[in-house]
Amino acid sequence: MEPRRYDVAIIGAGVAGLFIAHELSKFNLSIAVIEKEAEPGFGVSKGHAGVLHVVQPPFNSLKSMLAVKGNRLYDRVARELGVSMLRLPALLVARSGIELAILPLVYVVLKIIYQIRGFDISIVSGRRLRLLEPNVEGYAAIMIQGYGVIDSFELIDRLYRSSRARGVEFMFKTEARDLKIEDDTIVIETTRGSIRARYVINAAGLGSDTLASRVGGSERIEPHLGVMLVFDKPQTRSIVAPIPTLKPARTKGGGIIPMPWGSTIWGPSFAPTGSREDRGVRAEHVIDVIRKFKDLVRIKGRLVKAYAGVRPSTPKGDFSISYSPQTRRIINLVGIESPGLTAAPAIALMVIGMLKTAGLELTVAGKTPQKIVWRISTRARLAINPSGIEGHEGVIICPCMKVSLADIIDAIENGASTLDGIIFRTKLGMGSCQGQHCIGRAIIAMLRLTRKKPEDLVKSGEASWLVERL
Ligand SMILES: Cc1cc2nc3c(=O)[nH]c(=O)nc-3n(C[C@H](O)[C@H](O)[C@H](O)COP(=O)(O)OP(=O)(O)OC[C@H]3O[C@@H](n4cnc5c(N)ncnc54)[C@H](O)[C@@H]3O)c2cc1C
Repeated sequence: MEPRRYDVAIIGAGVAGLFIAHELSKFNLSIAVIEKEAEPGFGVSKGHAGVLHVVQPPFNSLKSMLAVKGNRLYDRVARELGVSMLRLPALLVARSGIELAILPLVYVVLKIIYQIRGFDISIVSGRRLRLLEPNVEGYAAIMIQGYGVIDSFELIDRLYRSSRARGVEFMFKTEARDLKIEDDTIVIETTRGSIRARYVINAAGLGSDTLASRVGGSERIEPHLGVMLVFDKPQTRSIVAPIPTLKPARTKGGGIIPMPWGSTIWGPSFAPTGSREDRGVRAEHVIDVIRKFKDLVRIKGRLVKAYAGVRPSTPKGDFSISYSPQTRRIINLVGIESPGLTAAPAIALMVIGMLKTAGLELTVAGKTPQKIVWRISTRARLAINPSGIEGHEGVIICPCMKVSLADIIDAIENGASTLDGIIFRTKLGMGSCQGQHCIGRAIIAMLRLTRKKPEDLVKSGEASWLVERL
């Protein structure tokens, strides 16, 4: 059989690949997205903190520039896709005499760099800090406007569904193994046969350096683990972090982060790991995070979960977005570590510019696609009108997060094929009881709705069976 042929193939359905697909789908192009996992967003994009950052050292790095551009684009993106997003400030708090002494210097540096980039920076006295954040302990703080927190699971789902509605073809459970350059075509050898494309975007996250190396790339990923702690109650209204020291650091250092759905995240930590598959939460990382933030805030709620994500860091500590040394028809995105979520809309525009420079004709698609009407979740409906729900909306499966049978049906109808897919789309089990009361009920609903056999249900993909297979 002749291999399928596309104008553009994107390898990786993480937030970067999905934003590229979403933006490219506005043009007259045939586009494929090749993803090794069962669903979109199951790579690095599955385990982050959801912050839209402003401050990102080193200030002249590509990641710092793209974060600023991406951050600004998010208001339009959230409106266009109906994604829940909160705009809020960050407070860098001085808790000791030494931190108070370095506060003016940090303030001047940030003011010089970020005022020009359009973000407002001010000093907050101890008194005002107590008014703004009654739970936070500190002598004074620097306030940076323009941060955000976004429901990144909703974002992934909507980028996927809007691209699909505009004709992008998604191939899940399909791993790209090799790239070959043939005249004006790139052949992608996958676990499900060959795919040909005129242009290829390698947005494969932790797998991007391996693929890039097939066509002359030399970047190398050194994975770093980040552990985050989840509390089930709001603790602050702003993102709160200690005043950073003036030492150059590999990360922004994490913070206390209020989530759009009412919980709080502390972290992430930063530690090298030998394995790209590592999602292990170790005691020393949990202790690191607790030590860093425990004196900053009066703890509200219970610590209900700790989870880890892996950063696709490179020794250079910056994003590398470049043409393959062998052809401008392949663009490699390597080292898309934090703030990759923030930068993703700007990464997409940069990649589209590079495709144009490399000769891809971009004509705006003539036919306006049918507008997707995004369904309002039962949780949101209940917040507006607690007595106005009926039918499947009234069958609450997860009482903590107010997830109904209607939400689960909607998730399955729109592509959730695994338990994690349902959890991410609905927030099932993300509340105080962490799924004790609802995961079983959700599995029964999945069985009825998908008509699968119990032994065929999976948590997140190949071989993650929910029921023991005898
Ligand atoms: C702990 C932690 C906290 C973070 N917090 C933040 C934050 O608060 N704010 C922020 O802006 N950023 C944050 N980030 C960074 C952000 O999560 C990443 O930059 C972003 O998710 C990277 O997206 P991506 O699409 O490049 O990679 P991915 O999401 O990994 O997508 C790549 C996809 O490619 C697939 N793939 C890999 N190899 C192959 C192959 N050979 N064939 C087919 N498919 C393949 C993978 O399965 C994956 O789905 C954080 C990261 C971590 C780890």
